[in-house]
Amino acid sequence: MTRQVVLIGAGHAHMEALRQSKRFANAGLTLTLIDPGAFWYSGAATGVLSGALDPAAARLNPADMAGPFLHVRQRVASVNSVTRTVRLEDGLELSYDVLSLNTGSHIAHTPLLEAGAIPAKPVSALAALRATVETAGGRLRLAVAGAGATGLEIALSLASLQRRLGAHPQMVLAGPDLLPGWPDKARDLARDAMARCGVEYVPRRVQDLSMGLIHFGERRVAPVDILVAATGLSANLPDGFDASGDGLPVNEDLSWTGDGSVFAVGDCARMVDHPRPRLGVFGVRAAPILIQNLINAAGGRTTRRRYTPQSRWLSILDVGDGTGLARYGDLAFQGKPALTLKRWLDGRFLQRFREEH
Ligand SMILES: Cc1cc2nc3c(=O)[nH]c(=O)nc-3n(C[C@H](O)[C@H](O)[C@H](O)COP(=O)(O)OP(=O)(O)OC[C@H]3O[C@@H](n4cnc5c(N)ncnc54)[C@H](O)[C@@H]3O)c2cc1C
Repeated sequence: MTRQVVLIGAGHAHMEALRQSKRFANAGLTLTLIDPGAFWYSGAATGVLSGALDPAAARLNPADMAGPFLHVRQRVASVNSVTRTVRLEDGLELSYDVLSLNTGSHIAHTPLLEAGAIPAKPVSALAALRATVETAGGRLRLAVAGAGATGLEIALSLASLQRRLGAHPQMVLAGPDLLPGWPDKARDLARDAMARCGVEYVPRRVQDLSMGLIHFGERRVAPVDILVAATGLSANLPDGFDASGDGLPVNEDLSWTGDGSVFAVGDCARMVDHPRPRLGVFGVRAAPILIQNLINAAGGRTTRRRYTPQSRWLSILDVGDGTGLARYGDLAFQGKPALTLKRWLDGRFLQRFREEH
Protein backbone atom coordinates (compact mmCIF):
# COMPACT_ATOMS: atom_id res chain seq x y z
CA MET A 1 0.00 0.00 0.00
CA THR A 2 1.29 3.49 -0.82
CA ARG A 3 2.14 5.83 2.04
CA GLN A 4 -0.57 8.37 2.80
CA VAL A 5 0.05 12.10 3.15
CA VAL A 6 -3.12 13.80 4.39
CA LEU A 7 -3.54 17.58 4.22
CA ILE A 8 -6.24 19.17 6.38
CA GLY A 9 -7.42 22.60 5.19
CA ALA A 10 -7.02 24.34 1.82
CA GLY A 11 -4.81 27.11 3.21
CA HIS A 12 -2.06 28.96 1.38
CA ALA A 13 0.69 26.34 1.83
CA HIS A 14 -1.55 23.39 1.04
CA MET A 15 -2.69 25.03 -2.20
CA GLU A 16 0.97 25.09 -3.21
CA ALA A 17 1.33 21.43 -2.17
CA LEU A 18 -1.60 20.57 -4.47
CA ARG A 19 0.03 22.55 -7.27
CA GLN A 20 3.13 20.39 -6.78
CA SER A 21 1.18 17.16 -6.23
CA LYS A 22 3.18 15.36 -8.94
CA ARG A 23 6.20 15.48 -6.64
CA PHE A 24 4.28 13.43 -4.07
CA ALA A 25 3.14 10.95 -6.74
CA ASN A 26 6.70 10.67 -8.10
CA ALA A 27 7.84 9.78 -4.58
CA GLY A 28 5.22 6.99 -4.49
CA LEU A 29 2.94 8.85 -2.07
CA THR A 30 -0.84 9.31 -2.11
CA LEU A 31 -1.83 12.91 -1.39
CA THR A 32 -5.29 13.66 0.03
CA LEU A 33 -6.76 17.07 0.84
CA ILE A 34 -9.64 17.29 3.31
CA ASP A 35 -11.42 20.66 3.20
CA PRO A 36 -15.12 21.52 3.16
CA GLY A 37 -14.98 24.38 0.67
CA ALA A 38 -12.91 26.67 -1.47
CA PHE A 39 -9.69 28.57 -0.82
CA TRP A 40 -10.37 32.27 -0.25
CA TYR A 41 -7.34 34.46 -0.74
CA SER A 42 -7.33 36.98 2.09
CA GLY A 43 -5.11 39.45 0.23
CA ALA A 44 -8.02 40.11 -2.14
CA ALA A 45 -10.74 39.96 0.54
CA THR A 46 -11.17 43.67 1.08
CA GLY A 47 -11.04 44.34 -2.67
CA VAL A 48 -14.06 42.04 -2.90
CA LEU A 49 -15.73 43.74 0.05
CA SER A 50 -15.32 47.23 -1.41
CA GLY A 51 -16.76 46.10 -4.74
CA ALA A 52 -13.47 46.71 -6.59
CA LEU A 53 -13.02 42.98 -7.28
CA ASP A 54 -15.42 40.22 -8.21
CA PRO A 55 -15.75 37.53 -5.47
CA ALA A 56 -14.49 34.98 -8.01
CA ALA A 57 -11.20 36.92 -8.06
CA ALA A 58 -10.46 35.85 -4.48
CA ARG A 59 -11.65 32.24 -4.68
CA LEU A 60 -9.98 29.07 -5.90
CA ASN A 61 -11.61 25.66 -5.93
CA PRO A 62 -9.04 22.96 -5.12
CA ALA A 63 -11.15 20.45 -7.07
CA ASP A 64 -10.48 22.47 -10.24
CA MET A 65 -6.74 22.00 -9.93
CA ALA A 66 -5.08 19.41 -12.09
CA GLY A 67 -2.85 16.84 -10.47
CA PRO A 68 -2.70 13.48 -8.77
CA PHE A 69 -4.45 14.15 -5.46
CA LEU A 70 -7.71 13.18 -3.79
CA HIS A 71 -10.11 15.78 -2.40
CA VAL A 72 -12.51 14.94 0.42
CA ARG A 73 -15.01 17.80 0.77
CA GLN A 74 -15.54 17.62 4.49
CA ARG A 75 -14.42 19.12 7.76
CA VAL A 76 -12.15 17.09 10.03
CA ALA A 77 -13.73 16.69 13.46
CA SER A 78 -10.78 15.15 15.28
CA VAL A 79 -7.30 13.70 14.93
CA ASN A 80 -5.89 10.74 16.83
CA SER A 81 -2.12 11.00 16.54
CA VAL A 82 -1.62 7.67 18.36
CA THR A 83 -3.65 5.58 15.87
CA ARG A 84 -2.76 8.04 13.06
CA THR A 85 -6.35 8.53 12.01
CA VAL A 86 -8.54 11.52 11.28
CA ARG A 87 -12.28 11.43 11.86
CA LEU A 88 -14.49 13.39 9.50
CA GLU A 89 -17.66 15.15 10.59
CA ASP A 90 -19.78 12.33 9.13
CA GLY A 91 -17.93 9.84 11.36
CA LEU A 92 -15.77 8.28 8.62
CA GLU A 93 -12.15 7.61 9.58
CA LEU A 94 -9.09 7.94 7.35
CA SER A 95 -5.56 6.74 8.13
CA TYR A 96 -2.42 8.72 7.49
CA ASP A 97 1.31 8.18 7.63
CA VAL A 98 2.09 11.89 7.62
CA LEU A 99 -0.42 14.62 8.43
CA SER A 100 -0.31 18.36 7.75
CA LEU A 101 -2.62 21.04 9.10
CA ASN A 102 -3.21 24.36 7.31
CA THR A 103 -6.59 25.12 8.81
CA GLY A 104 -6.32 28.88 9.37
CA SER A 105 -7.97 30.81 12.17
CA HIS A 106 -11.27 32.31 13.28
CA ILE A 107 -12.29 35.38 15.26
CA ALA A 108 -11.64 34.43 18.87
CA HIS A 109 -14.68 34.14 21.10
CA THR A 110 -16.21 37.49 22.02
CA PRO A 111 -19.72 38.22 23.36
CA LEU A 112 -20.12 40.55 20.36
CA LEU A 113 -20.45 37.50 18.10
CA GLU A 114 -23.23 36.07 20.28
CA ALA A 115 -24.93 39.47 20.11
CA GLY A 116 -25.00 39.27 16.30
CA ALA A 117 -21.71 40.78 15.11
CA ILE A 118 -20.37 39.38 11.83
CA PRO A 119 -16.90 37.80 12.17
CA ALA A 120 -14.15 39.22 9.92
CA LYS A 121 -13.16 35.62 9.14
CA PRO A 122 -13.76 33.40 7.25
CA VAL A 123 -13.11 35.57 4.22
CA SER A 124 -16.21 34.06 2.54
CA ALA A 125 -18.33 35.90 5.17
CA LEU A 126 -17.07 39.21 3.76
CA ALA A 127 -18.40 38.36 0.29
CA ALA A 128 -21.81 37.71 1.90
CA LEU A 129 -21.55 41.02 3.79
CA ARG A 130 -20.95 42.90 0.56
CA ALA A 131 -24.14 41.37 -0.89
CA THR A 132 -26.12 42.51 2.19
CA VAL A 133 -24.83 46.08 1.91
CA GLU A 134 -25.53 46.13 -1.83
CA THR A 135 -29.09 44.92 -1.30
CA ALA A 136 -29.65 47.86 1.07
CA GLY A 137 -28.19 50.27 -1.49
CA GLY A 138 -25.41 51.02 0.98
CA ARG A 139 -27.78 52.86 3.32
CA LEU A 140 -26.77 51.08 6.49
CA ARG A 141 -25.05 52.24 9.66
CA LEU A 142 -21.92 50.14 9.81
CA ALA A 143 -19.27 49.65 12.46
CA VAL A 144 -16.14 47.58 12.93
CA ALA A 145 -14.82 46.54 16.35
CA GLY A 146 -11.04 46.17 16.41
CA ALA A 147 -8.70 48.76 14.90
CA GLY A 148 -5.83 46.51 13.83
CA ALA A 149 -4.86 46.16 10.17
CA THR A 150 -7.81 43.86 9.43
CA GLY A 151 -10.42 46.07 11.13
CA LEU A 152 -9.08 49.26 9.54
CA GLU A 153 -9.01 47.72 6.07
CA ILE A 154 -12.54 46.35 6.44
CA ALA A 155 -13.86 49.74 7.65
CA LEU A 156 -12.24 51.59 4.73
CA SER A 157 -13.51 48.98 2.26
CA LEU A 158 -17.08 49.15 3.55
CA ALA A 159 -17.01 52.97 3.38
CA SER A 160 -15.73 52.61 -0.18
CA LEU A 161 -18.59 50.22 -0.99
CA GLN A 162 -21.11 52.73 0.37
CA ARG A 163 -19.63 55.50 -1.79
CA ARG A 164 -19.61 53.17 -4.80
CA LEU A 165 -23.34 52.56 -4.24
CA GLY A 166 -23.98 56.31 -4.11
CA ALA A 167 -24.69 56.30 -0.38
CA HIS A 168 -23.12 58.53 2.23
CA PRO A 169 -20.59 56.46 4.24
CA GLN A 170 -21.83 55.77 7.74
CA MET A 171 -18.94 53.92 9.25
CA VAL A 172 -17.45 53.76 12.73
CA LEU A 173 -14.15 52.04 13.46
CA ALA A 174 -13.70 51.39 17.17
CA GLY A 175 -10.74 50.08 19.12
CA PRO A 176 -8.37 51.49 21.73
CA ASP A 177 -5.25 50.86 19.60
CA LEU A 178 -5.03 51.91 15.99
CA LEU A 179 -2.70 49.66 13.95
CA PRO A 180 -0.83 48.23 16.95
CA GLY A 181 2.75 47.31 16.07
CA TRP A 182 2.79 49.59 13.02
CA PRO A 183 5.01 52.71 12.79
CA ASP A 184 3.61 56.09 13.92
CA LYS A 185 3.71 57.38 10.37
CA ALA A 186 1.33 54.61 9.27
CA ARG A 187 -1.09 55.56 12.05
CA ASP A 188 -1.00 59.21 10.91
CA LEU A 189 -1.66 58.14 7.33
CA ALA A 190 -4.50 55.90 8.51
CA ARG A 191 -6.14 58.76 10.44
CA ASP A 192 -5.94 61.01 7.36
CA ALA A 193 -7.37 58.24 5.18
CA MET A 194 -10.28 57.67 7.56
CA ALA A 195 -11.08 61.39 7.70
CA ARG A 196 -11.00 61.57 3.90
CA CYS A 197 -13.05 58.41 3.34
CA GLY A 198 -15.85 59.02 5.85
CA VAL A 199 -14.75 56.63 8.60
CA GLU A 200 -15.20 57.91 12.15
CA TYR A 201 -12.54 56.52 14.46
CA VAL A 202 -13.56 55.97 18.10
CA PRO A 203 -10.50 55.02 20.20
CA ARG A 204 -12.50 52.82 22.55
CA ARG A 205 -13.31 49.16 23.00
CA VAL A 206 -16.79 48.09 21.92
CA GLN A 207 -18.20 46.61 25.10
CA ASP A 208 -21.60 45.47 23.96
CA LEU A 209 -24.02 45.28 21.06
CA SER A 210 -27.69 45.40 21.94
CA MET A 211 -30.95 46.89 20.64
CA GLY A 212 -29.20 48.29 17.57
CA LEU A 213 -26.61 50.16 19.62
CA ILE A 214 -22.92 49.62 20.15
CA HIS A 215 -21.81 50.50 23.65
CA PHE A 216 -18.40 52.02 24.34
CA GLY A 217 -18.81 52.37 28.11
CA GLU A 218 -19.44 55.55 30.13
CA ARG A 219 -22.90 55.76 28.53
CA ARG A 220 -21.42 56.41 25.13
CA VAL A 221 -23.35 54.57 22.40
CA ALA A 222 -23.76 54.69 18.62
CA PRO A 223 -26.60 53.29 16.50
CA VAL A 224 -25.61 50.49 14.17
CA ASP A 225 -27.23 48.13 11.68
CA ILE A 226 -24.23 45.85 11.17
CA LEU A 227 -21.19 45.37 13.39
CA VAL A 228 -18.15 43.46 12.12
CA ALA A 229 -15.90 41.88 14.76
CA ALA A 230 -12.18 42.09 13.91
CA THR A 231 -11.16 41.63 17.49
CA GLY A 232 -8.41 39.02 17.33
CA LEU A 233 -7.83 35.54 15.96
CA SER A 234 -7.71 32.06 17.39
CA ALA A 235 -6.31 28.96 15.65
CA ASN A 236 -8.67 26.50 13.92
CA LEU A 237 -7.68 23.07 15.21
CA PRO A 238 -9.64 19.81 15.09
CA ASP A 239 -10.23 18.06 18.41
CA GLY A 240 -7.39 15.87 19.60
CA PHE A 241 -4.71 18.51 20.03
CA ASP A 242 -3.97 19.88 23.44
CA ALA A 243 -3.17 23.37 22.14
CA SER A 244 -4.49 26.84 22.89
CA GLY A 245 -5.88 29.37 20.41
CA ASP A 246 -2.25 30.43 19.86
CA GLY A 247 -1.92 27.45 17.55
CA LEU A 248 -0.19 24.08 17.37
CA PRO A 249 3.43 24.56 18.50
CA VAL A 250 5.83 23.65 15.69
CA ASN A 251 9.59 23.31 15.33
CA GLU A 252 11.68 25.03 12.67
CA ASP A 253 10.98 22.11 10.29
CA LEU A 254 7.23 22.81 10.80
CA SER A 255 6.66 19.51 12.62
CA TRP A 256 4.50 19.53 15.73
CA THR A 257 6.62 19.53 18.89
CA GLY A 258 4.47 16.62 20.12
CA ASP A 259 4.80 14.25 17.12
CA GLY A 260 7.21 14.41 14.17
CA SER A 261 4.69 12.88 11.75
CA VAL A 262 2.28 15.81 12.18
CA PHE A 263 3.08 19.17 10.55
CA ALA A 264 1.29 22.51 10.79
CA VAL A 265 1.64 25.81 8.98
CA GLY A 266 -0.02 29.22 8.70
CA ASP A 267 -2.48 30.69 11.19
CA CYS A 268 -3.17 27.34 12.91
CA ALA A 269 0.51 26.92 13.85
CA ARG A 270 2.75 28.68 16.34
CA MET A 271 6.44 28.69 15.43
CA VAL A 272 7.97 28.28 18.86
CA ASP A 273 11.37 29.68 17.86
CA HIS A 274 10.08 32.46 15.58
CA PRO A 275 6.69 33.82 16.67
CA ARG A 276 5.08 35.97 13.97
CA PRO A 277 1.71 37.70 13.47
CA ARG A 278 -1.03 35.82 11.64
CA LEU A 279 -0.52 36.71 7.99
CA GLY A 280 -1.03 34.67 4.84
CA VAL A 281 2.45 35.59 3.66
CA PHE A 282 4.06 33.24 6.19
CA GLY A 283 2.07 30.26 4.93
CA VAL A 284 3.09 31.13 1.38
CA ARG A 285 6.79 31.37 2.28
CA ALA A 286 6.69 28.18 4.37
CA ALA A 287 5.16 26.10 1.56
CA PRO A 288 8.38 24.89 -0.18
CA ILE A 289 9.86 23.78 3.15
CA LEU A 290 6.64 22.07 4.19
CA ILE A 291 6.34 20.19 0.89
CA GLN A 292 9.91 18.88 1.01
CA ASN A 293 9.60 17.86 4.66
CA LEU A 294 6.28 16.05 4.07
CA ILE A 295 7.85 14.08 1.20
CA ASN A 296 10.93 13.26 3.28
CA ALA A 297 8.95 12.27 6.36
CA ALA A 298 6.52 10.09 4.39
CA GLY A 299 9.43 8.47 2.55
CA GLY A 300 11.12 7.57 5.83
CA ARG A 301 13.99 10.02 5.34
CA THR A 302 15.23 11.96 8.34
CA THR A 303 16.58 15.05 6.54
CA ARG A 304 14.46 18.14 7.09
CA ARG A 305 14.57 21.69 5.76
CA ARG A 306 14.19 24.50 8.27
CA TYR A 307 11.92 27.51 7.88
CA THR A 308 13.10 30.84 9.27
CA PRO A 309 10.37 33.41 8.64
CA GLN A 310 11.55 36.85 7.59
CA SER A 311 11.74 39.44 10.37
CA ARG A 312 10.42 42.24 8.12
CA TRP A 313 7.62 41.89 5.62
CA LEU A 314 5.60 44.08 3.30
CA SER A 315 1.98 44.73 4.25
CA ILE A 316 -0.25 46.79 1.98
CA LEU A 317 -3.75 47.83 3.05
CA ASP A 318 -6.35 48.66 0.42
CA VAL A 319 -7.59 52.13 1.47
CA GLY A 320 -10.60 51.85 -0.85
CA ASP A 321 -9.95 55.19 -2.61
CA GLY A 322 -7.56 53.87 -5.25
CA THR A 323 -4.54 54.05 -2.94
CA GLY A 324 -2.74 51.60 -0.71
CA LEU A 325 -1.14 52.09 2.70
CA ALA A 326 2.14 50.18 2.68
CA ARG A 327 4.37 49.26 5.58
CA TYR A 328 7.76 47.58 5.55
CA GLY A 329 9.46 47.46 8.94
CA ASP A 330 9.55 51.03 10.23
CA LEU A 331 8.73 52.55 6.86
CA ALA A 332 5.23 53.59 5.81
CA PHE A 333 3.92 55.03 2.56
CA GLN A 334 0.54 55.73 1.02
CA GLY A 335 -0.32 56.23 -2.62
CA LYS A 336 -1.56 54.71 -5.87
CA PRO A 337 1.69 52.79 -6.55
CA ALA A 338 1.20 50.87 -3.29
CA LEU A 339 -2.23 49.64 -4.38
CA THR A 340 -0.94 48.84 -7.88
CA LEU A 341 1.82 46.75 -6.31
CA LYS A 342 -0.68 44.98 -4.03
CA ARG A 343 -2.99 44.09 -6.93
CA TRP A 344 -0.01 42.85 -8.96
CA LEU A 345 1.34 40.69 -6.12
CA ASP A 346 -2.11 39.26 -5.34
CA GLY A 347 -2.86 38.62 -9.02
CA ARG A 348 0.49 36.91 -9.54
CA PHE A 349 -0.12 34.64 -6.54
CA LEU A 350 -3.57 33.57 -7.72
CA GLN A 351 -2.55 33.20 -11.36
CA ARG A 352 -0.06 30.49 -10.42
CA PHE A 353 -2.96 28.25 -9.42
CA ARG A 354 -5.23 29.19 -12.30
CA GLU A 355 -2.53 28.29 -14.84
CA GLU A 356 -2.54 24.76 -13.46
CA HIS A 357 -6.20 24.14 -14.38
C1 LIG B 1 -10.04 40.95 5.86
C2 LIG B 1 -8.70 40.29 5.96
C3 LIG B 1 -7.66 40.73 5.16
C4 LIG B 1 -6.40 40.14 5.24
N1 LIG B 1 -5.43 40.59 4.41
C5 LIG B 1 -4.23 39.99 4.42
C6 LIG B 1 -3.21 40.40 3.50
O1 LIG B 1 -3.41 41.31 2.69
N2 LIG B 1 -2.01 39.76 3.54
C7 LIG B 1 -1.77 38.74 4.43
O2 LIG B 1 -0.66 38.19 4.42
N3 LIG B 1 -2.71 38.32 5.32
C8 LIG B 1 -3.93 38.92 5.33
N4 LIG B 1 -4.89 38.51 6.23
C9 LIG B 1 -4.58 37.44 7.18
C10 LIG B 1 -4.94 36.13 6.56
O3 LIG B 1 -6.34 36.01 6.48
C11 LIG B 1 -4.53 34.89 7.31
O4 LIG B 1 -3.27 35.02 7.84
C12 LIG B 1 -4.53 33.73 6.30
O5 LIG B 1 -5.82 33.56 5.74
C13 LIG B 1 -4.14 32.45 6.96
O6 LIG B 1 -3.95 31.52 5.95
P1 LIG B 1 -3.80 30.00 6.24
O7 LIG B 1 -3.04 29.48 5.08
O8 LIG B 1 -3.25 29.75 7.58
O9 LIG B 1 -5.30 29.44 6.26
P2 LIG B 1 -6.57 29.86 5.39
O10 LIG B 1 -6.17 30.44 4.08
O11 LIG B 1 -7.46 30.64 6.28
O12 LIG B 1 -7.24 28.45 5.05
C14 LIG B 1 -7.72 27.57 6.04
C15 LIG B 1 -8.56 26.50 5.39
O13 LIG B 1 -8.77 25.46 6.33
C16 LIG B 1 -10.10 24.98 6.24
N5 LIG B 1 -10.44 24.35 7.51
C17 LIG B 1 -10.56 24.93 8.73
N6 LIG B 1 -10.87 24.00 9.67
C18 LIG B 1 -10.94 22.80 9.02
C19 LIG B 1 -11.22 21.46 9.43
N7 LIG B 1 -11.48 21.15 10.71
N8 LIG B 1 -11.22 20.48 8.49
C20 LIG B 1 -10.93 20.77 7.19
N9 LIG B 1 -10.66 22.01 6.75
C21 LIG B 1 -10.66 23.02 7.65
C22 LIG B 1 -10.91 26.22 5.91
O14 LIG B 1 -12.12 25.84 5.27
C23 LIG B 1 -9.95 26.96 4.96
O15 LIG B 1 -10.18 26.56 3.62
C24 LIG B 1 -6.17 39.09 6.17
C25 LIG B 1 -7.21 38.65 6.99
C26 LIG B 1 -8.47 39.23 6.88
C27 LIG B 1 -9.58 38.74 7.78
